[in-house]
Amino acid sequence: MKTAKENLLSRRHFCLCCIGGAAALGGWLTPRQAFAEARGLVSLIKDSAAASPITTHKLRNNISVLEGSGGNIAVLTGPDGKVMVDAGISVSRPQLTKALDALGNEKITHLINTHWHFDHADGNAWLHSAGARIIAQDNTRKHLAGIQRVEDWDYNFLPAPAGGIPGEVFANEHNLKLNGLSIGLKYYEPSHTDSDISVTFAEANVVHVGDTFWNGIYPFIDYSTGGSIDGMIAASNANLAATTNDTIIIPGHGKPLSNKAELQDFRDMLVAIRDNVATLKKQGKTRDETVAAKPTAAFDAKWGQFVIDPGFFTRLVYEGV
Ligand SMILES: [Zn+2]
Repeated sequence: MKTAKENLLSRRHFCLCCIGGAAALGGWLTPRQAFAEARGLVSLIKDSAAASPITTHKLRNNISVLEGSGGNIAVLTGPDGKVMVDAGISVSRPQLTKALDALGNEKITHLINTHWHFDHADGNAWLHSAGARIIAQDNTRKHLAGIQRVEDWDYNFLPAPAGGIPGEVFANEHNLKLNGLSIGLKYYEPSHTDSDISVTFAEANVVHVGDTFWNGIYPFIDYSTGGSIDGMIAASNANLAATTNDTIIIPGHGKPLSNKAELQDFRDMLVAIRDNVATLKKQGKTRDETVAAKPTAAFDAKWGQFVIDPGFFTRLVYEGV
């Protein structure tokens, strides 16, 4: 028999980004208890990913999205080999291998990390052993190479194994030409973390924006490694400026195929809640009083149905205004 927590995990496709809100969601733990349980939840997330199937969504120009192992994974196939954007969680290796094999016979030659988080980079080592060169922003390598604490999860991550650390890094921009497509990697400045990049497949008009965009759900913001609500808004503005109505936008989490209209809704939600929380904080309200005032109420029906629940998201915004 599954415990309530395991059922919750399997129902909601938990990812590491979400564990801070996970235990609070059902109302059976206070946030403090939830944070204390974080270590146990990481194990549960791994167990959940291990059992989770991978769903493949075919986009265009030989680009697909694999859903079901942490963040949304993009794959470009062709004669230069498979190019992946994000690695998922390593326990998903059997299912991911099957999904990747179904896309074609090419070897995996390149892996790009959108940022350093576990649910996007934990699979780095096995993908490197399978042949992938790993490319990322400077700060992704820095965080993966050392012990990294995430305060809102009360969790210390150990350094990645040597093979999991990106071998090729850049500061602001990096350009590749693979499988007939121009692939542009661009740093956001600190937003969800201080290591986020976008990956644009130019001729296909497809962009993976990592965890700067959570489609239809409140996002996690990692203040421990440089994230902030204002950085998230700035990244959303940059995403809007860089896309057209025909662009296929791949979010880090949430429904994997998105578009500019949904991105605009996300940006407008962030701005409105930021303003509401800032007003309450300016009035001298404490964090708990601000949560009690429900500054997200108008948005909760649509955005509050995932693991970053309204109270947890309010606390994240409060921290940055
Ligand atoms: Zn993340």
